[in-house]
Amino acid sequence: MFDINKITRENVKRLKPYSSARDEFNGVAEVSLDANENPFGFGLNRYPDGTLGDLKEAMAKYRNVEIPRLIFGNGSDELIDLLIRAFCEPGRDKLMIFPPTFGMYKVAADVNDVEVIKEPLTDDFQINLSKLQPKLLDENLKIIFLCSPNNPTGNCINKDTILSITAAFSGLVVVDEAYIDFGGESLVSENISNLFILQTFSKSMGLAGARLGIGFGSSEVISVLNKIKPPYNINSLTQEKAIDVLNRPELIKKQVEILIEERTKMEQALKDLPSVRRIYPSHANFLLVAFEDAQKTYAYLMSKGIVVRDRSSQVSDTLRITIGTPSENQRLIAALKEEEYQEKGRIGRCVRTTSETKIKIEVNLDDTSNTSISTGVAFFDHMLDQIARHGALGLHVEVEGDIEIDTHHTIEDTALALGTAFNDALKDRKGIERYGFLLPMDDCLSQVAIDFGGRPWIEWDATFKATHVGEMPTEMVYHFFKSFSDTARCNLNIKATGDNDHHKIESIFKAFARAIRMAVRKDDSGVMPSTKGVL
Ligand SMILES: *Cc1c(COP(=O)(O)O)cnc(C)c1O
Repeated sequence: MFDINKITRENVKRLKPYSSARDEFNGVAEVSLDANENPFGFGLNRYPDGTLGDLKEAMAKYRNVEIPRLIFGNGSDELIDLLIRAFCEPGRDKLMIFPPTFGMYKVAADVNDVEVIKEPLTDDFQINLSKLQPKLLDENLKIIFLCSPNNPTGNCINKDTILSITAAFSGLVVVDEAYIDFGGESLVSENISNLFILQTFSKSMGLAGARLGIGFGSSEVISVLNKIKPPYNINSLTQEKAIDVLNRPELIKKQVEILIEERTKMEQALKDLPSVRRIYPSHANFLLVAFEDAQKTYAYLMSKGIVVRDRSSQVSDTLRITIGTPSENQRLIAALKEEEYQEKGRIGRCVRTTSETKIKIEVNLDDTSNTSISTGVAFFDHMLDQIARHGALGLHVEVEGDIEIDTHHTIEDTALALGTAFNDALKDRKGIERYGFLLPMDDCLSQVAIDFGGRPWIEWDATFKATHVGEMPTEMVYHFFKSFSDTARCNLNIKATGDNDHHKIESIFKAFARAIRMAVRKDDSGVMPSTKGVL
C-alpha cells in the first residue's frame, strides 16, 4: 500500500545527490588535497565524517537497530524539515498534526508552503481513530506527525492506534519520540515501511547544545532523505560528543532515573498547593500543570527568576514545568508555596489515611474566616472549635474514624494530623513569636505554655474524675496534646485544676488556643526566633 514513489516529490526523484571525492575514495587517505581545507587551523580544519560511520555504529548498538535504518539531523528540527522537503509538494500537498502538540511541525510546514490539517486530540489527549479514518484517504495528505510522549501534554498516544494509522494510511507516519526514555514504549523495533521515528539527543541524552536528532526509518525512506540532506550536517564536535555519551549508557540511565524520581516528587509537592488545579500525568521530563490563574503564577515565578513555559494557549491555564535538578525543583516549589503564603496566609495541611481513620486537615494561621470541623465526636468537635476560635485560626478538620469501636483512634490520629499541619504551616518558623503563655480562665485554672522551638515535649498536670465527657474519654485529653506536640514539634506545659471536667477540658483547649495564637503571631522581623539561628 505504501509506495515511496507515490509520495516522493518529483524534483527529489530526479535529483542526483551531491558527491564528494571522499565518497569516491574508500579507505584512509594518505594525502588529502581534495576539499580545499586548510592544512593548519585549530584542530577542526578537516570536514567532518559525512558518512557518520562511527556515530551510526554506536547508535545502532545503543538502540539495537540496523545501520541502514538510521539518519541524523542538525536537531530533530532539521529532520522534520527534510521529511517535508522530500515528500510534500509545496502549494499542493498536506500534512496532519494532532494539537495540542509540538510547534515545529507547523512551522516547518509553513516554511515549505505545505497545508496543515489539524485533528485535535480528545479530552484525554488521544486520537479518535474512527473520526480520523476517512481523512486518511485524502491523496494529497502525505505525512502524519504525531508525538508520543506528547509535548506539551506529556502522555503517550495509544500504541495500537498508531499501528492502525500506519496500516490505514498510504503516506508516511512520523512518530516523534523525543521523550521516550522518560516513559512509554518505543516503536523503533517495528519494521513498518511507512513508519518513521524521530528521537533526539536534546532530552534524555542531555546534549541540546550539540543539535543532534535521529531518524529511524525503512531503508527506502532513508535513501530519499539522504539524497537531499546537506552532506556535512553533523559537525565533528557533535559527532565526537555523541559517541562519547552513547558509550556511557549507565550514566544516561542514571540521570534519567533521577529525573523520573524528581518528576514524582514534584508531582507530590504540587498536588498539595491550592493554586494547582490539575497535574496531567506525564511520561516526559516535564509536567503540564493547570493553575487557578496560570498567567499570574507565570509572572510571579518570572519575578523570582524562575522561567517556566506558559502553555495556556494550547491547554487552558497551564504551565509546562521542566524537571530540573533537585535543588532547582525545590526552589520552584518553595517559590510557589511562598506565593500562596503571601496571598492567603500560612497554610499547613495533612492528609492521613490508616485502616482506622481517614483525616484531612488544613490550618491557616493568618486567616480566621474559614472553619469547618467534623470528627463524628461532638464534644471533640467542640474542643477543636475552641482551638480555631481562640487561636484566631482557620481550621478545616474532616475525619472519618472507626468511632463505632472507640473514639480513641479518631482523637489521637486527629491530634497527630493537626500537629503535622501546624508544622507544615510554620514552615521554617522564621519571624514568629515562638512562645505563648496563658494564665487563669473561668472557674478553672488552666495554664498552657507553648514553645514552637522545634522540639517535642509535654509536661502534663491535670486529672479528671469522669471517664467520659460526651463520647470523649477524658484520658484522651492528655493523648491529644502529647500527639500534637510530637508532630507539631512543640513543647507543651499544661496544668489545670477545677471541679467540673467539662469546664476543665474546655478551658485547657481554650488556653491552648490562646497560647498558639500568641506563639504563631508574626513579629515582622523575619528572623529565626532563636539565638542558635535554627529551630
Ligand atoms: C524537544 C523536542 C524535540 C527536540 O528537537 P531538537 O531539534 O532535536 O532539539 C523534538 N520533538 C519534540 C516534541 C520536542 O519536544
